[in-house]
Amino acid sequence: MSRIVGIDLGTTNSLVAYVDDKTGQPRVISDRDGQRLLPSIVSFAGEGVLVGAAARRQLVRRPQSTVYSIKRLMGRGYEDVKGELRYFPFKVLPSEGIVKIQIGSREVTPPEVSAIVLRSLKERAEAHFGEPIEKVVVTVPAYFDDSQRQATKDAGRIAGLDVVRILNEPTAAALAYGLQRLHEGVVAVYDLGGGTFDISILRVKDGVFEVLATNGNTHLGGDDFDRAIVRWLLDEIRGGHGADLSPDPEAMQELRLAAEAAKVRLSTDERTPLTIPFDAFTYSREITRGDLEGLIGQLVDSTLLPCRMALADAGLAPADIDEVVLVGGSTRVPLVRRRVHELFGKTPHSQLNPDEVVALGAAVQAHILAGGITNMLLLDVTPLSLGIETLGGIVSVLIPRNTTIPTNAREMFTTSVDGQRVVDMHVVQGERELAKDCRSLARFELSGVDPMPAGMPKIEVVFLIDANGILQVTATELRTGKAAAIEVRPTYGLAEGDVDRMVEESFTYAEADVEARLLIEARNEADTVITHVERALRQGEALVGAEEQQTIGAALDALRRARATEDRELIREATTAMNRATEHLAELMMDAALKAALASRRADQVLEK
Ligand code: AMP
Repeated sequence: MSRIVGIDLGTTNSLVAYVDDKTGQPRVISDRDGQRLLPSIVSFAGEGVLVGAAARRQLVRRPQSTVYSIKRLMGRGYEDVKGELRYFPFKVLPSEGIVKIQIGSREVTPPEVSAIVLRSLKERAEAHFGEPIEKVVVTVPAYFDDSQRQATKDAGRIAGLDVVRILNEPTAAALAYGLQRLHEGVVAVYDLGGGTFDISILRVKDGVFEVLATNGNTHLGGDDFDRAIVRWLLDEIRGGHGADLSPDPEAMQELRLAAEAAKVRLSTDERTPLTIPFDAFTYSREITRGDLEGLIGQLVDSTLLPCRMALADAGLAPADIDEVVLVGGSTRVPLVRRRVHELFGKTPHSQLNPDEVVALGAAVQAHILAGGITNMLLLDVTPLSLGIETLGGIVSVLIPRNTTIPTNAREMFTTSVDGQRVVDMHVVQGERELAKDCRSLARFELSGVDPMPAGMPKIEVVFLIDANGILQVTATELRTGKAAAIEVRPTYGLAEGDVDRMVEESFTYAEADVEARLLIEARNEADTVITHVERALRQGEALVGAEEQQTIGAALDALRRARATEDRELIREATTAMNRATEHLAELMMDAALKAALASRRADQVLEK
């Protein structure tokens, strides 16, 4: 039995999980430092790449070459994402077909970026098991169309992974809670993360999951809660200290971090202190859960309308929902839980970590596929109808939405011109009548048809949707029994050759990756040391003699020079030398600080500097 792991490839964070053979329970795999979430962020540095927390540290420093929220661009064309571009500091190119991101002189596609995240999770799993991992289940939002699913599969291939199943995220969440065992029932999955909100209504019947409806808001989440707190703090500070901090990016970052931390604490505590040291003064106050709820109440309420709309689309009332599952970090906020409880009239499932539910469910699906759970059939349905554009731009649906997958359908075509050897076809996905209002998935050509009078050839086109919701097309000319050659050109996908090239290229990164990372880390450390020493020299000038000041100044110059080179060994040596040169000064400053602290009796007196 070959091992299969489950991956939640998220907009903000990604995780990998497996089912423990001994306990039968799904578990998330941590990295060497015990981190379970991998930030879905990739930073390109020269020839190398950084991923996860290391890439996140580059967000401020290298905004143009640090890519986040790539999931929003997967399988999309430029027209699809034009409205989103203002959220991204990196450059998205107005190219035809699949979107591309410009990093320096290089262009990368969303599947390549996601592949870097997947590769990191693959390595994490391999380190855990001590064996190669090649097969994975990857989750996607229920509303992902064929191009977006294909792009996710391509990302897997580029990362050297066989994506054996693409699984809907809400289905995964239901699996994590064992809801596949329901004989029959309706499940609402409420997923509120950092930047997105999704509500899905699923029907489970004898191991078949059907997505009845989805709704949501692609720009609503915990980040908006943080922004609401920051706006309030800005007003408070303006009122109390007469200072407007909004033009100062560093102060804004401090505020944002403090706001998020306070929000998180208020999920468990009724009140919490909020202390933020700025250069000119320290802001300090207490914030209560009631304050927070006043600030975010409207945002939380705005998730309820999409819930009602999804219920209406599914033709259901809140009372028809049998189980409610919470997903996403922001569902830890007590007000969110209360509102969801009130809407559906039942206590939502929240025993599992809401950041991990989807990955845990992916692991359960992986375990089922690997044969670890027999006697269980688990199926999904296709979320959107698939059809072919016919005369006059009308869509002829071959596979209607909500068909249980895998499935297939066939339709006969013929030629309209005598001696025609090539027939053009256009595959679309969606629920609209006209092809132009649906999503274009692919165009393909049946070539090599034997020349015959118009209307004579009988060409059978077969659509096959595999268990991942991904379409394959075959065509045969039935009179001669000859299979016509088909070339499917995915409208927003990568061509076969592209994927192979990317697979090859991805291996060439590997060594450069490590080198680039080490160099960046060395530089980051040097920068931190330089900033500290400069500040120490300003503050501690009076503490050391002229000679010592000169030694420190010389070490600082040497470090700045080393920092400008590509030689990480040199940077490291210069950093060590700098640390040695300032040991004495650091001791003196620590003593002075201790004395000052002891001298001040009341902490709040030193708050206002
Ligand atoms: P996700 O995208 O699911 O990882 O969710 C991330 C969001 O959840 C961020 O906005 C976090 O600030 C928020 N979050 C994480 N933990 C908590 C918590 N304990 N209370 C409130 N919000 C949280």
